[in-house]
Amino acid sequence: MEFWKNGWGKTARNDKVFAYSQMAFADKSPATVNATLGTLSNEDGEIFSFETVYERYNALSNSVKTSYAQSPLGNPDYLEALKAWTLKENCPDLYTAACAAPGGTGAIALAMDLSLQEGDSVLIPYPAWSNYDLMATQRGLRLSRYELFDENGFSLEDFRKKCQQALNDSERLLVIVNDPCQNPTGYSMTIEEWKRVLEILEECAQEKPVLLLNDIAYIDYSPRSDSKDYMRLFNGISENLCVLIAFSLSKTFSFYGMRAGALIALHRNAETVTEFENAAQKYARAHWSSINNAAMVCFAEIMEKDSAKWHKELEEARRMLQRRTDLFSKEAKEAGLETYPQKEGFFVTVVEKDPAKAKKTVARLMERHIYCLDIQGGIRVALCSVPYQKVKGLAGKIKEAMLETA
Ligand code: PLP
Repeated sequence: MEFWKNGWGKTARNDKVFAYSQMAFADKSPATVNATLGTLSNEDGEIFSFETVYERYNALSNSVKTSYAQSPLGNPDYLEALKAWTLKENCPDLYTAACAAPGGTGAIALAMDLSLQEGDSVLIPYPAWSNYDLMATQRGLRLSRYELFDENGFSLEDFRKKCQQALNDSERLLVIVNDPCQNPTGYSMTIEEWKRVLEILEECAQEKPVLLLNDIAYIDYSPRSDSKDYMRLFNGISENLCVLIAFSLSKTFSFYGMRAGALIALHRNAETVTEFENAAQKYARAHWSSINNAAMVCFAEIMEKDSAKWHKELEEARRMLQRRTDLFSKEAKEAGLETYPQKEGFFVTVVEKDPAKAKKTVARLMERHIYCLDIQGGIRVALCSVPYQKVKGLAGKIKEAMLETA
């Protein structure tokens, strides 16, 4: 008897990131380096949390923590605070609406489900966060990938080609751009690259509806004060293009397990944005009903009353992360270890296009208590979870393991 649709029950999925991180946690050697998980750790190797956030959170009453949200769309003050934090003053010419979602994953699921029918195209980067792949295939979407880089850096050429191909096969196109602080490469596009990307999307949107899904999960860990300036370019979008922004409190508040985030829609016409709100509200009610009330209350309160204090902590967290990535990239150069262009954020990825070799290298590193992730295109090193002292020498050890498995 077959109970589970689409044959989903026939194969088990070994979610490598969870499996490897559990192996790393179980390895009690003092030499253990756990570079598997995209969660920020402090310099003692403990998961990082913000004092300001937990002072507020712990001061919330049981009734706030235990209550439902005010609406499936999310609490109105949360949504307003979140739009203000995310967009700053960058998009005054557009209409905007937001729907709360359980983390960035919930926001991406919402974007896919509200816009695409089975068989429609979704375009993702290569290399990319592996969950995009699963999310698209579970929905029966047509998945294709644009190469992020060519020999000159960000590959606009491939981006254009893949957008056009994907659009030919579909009624409508959703393109994911996980920028800035991309996972897994740590790349961030320049303003010029953003301009060109939007021009290409506009060209495609002359034919059929195009949605840009900007996944900004890691944006708040960019050390640049101008990290959100590229959003000003969204002001120029035509009515054929809709911009969706997936925001995650998992990273911004180190609230991984709280499952809070949002999807923001931006468009030239009020009607499109109202329709987004209507559709999102129904979708949320039918899928998760509403999200974590306390996480929303905490975010809104901090933005209103404690934002300077929290911001100071965030700055320190960014500096801690940047010291690690600077050290790794210096040592990678010295060791001749090739990485994808890395600028900022949680990750760096070593180039290894042969999956068997990447797997072997990761296994060899595990024998030395070093846990990284073999992914499509290379070996991801989550520097976010490796204290500075353990970053020292890491690039050299990875290079050694690669040479041994060559
Ligand atoms: N987008 C990217 C690129 C990510 O790496 C992650 C988390 O690892 C997310 C979105 C969403 O995370 P969450 O659902 O925990 O907010």
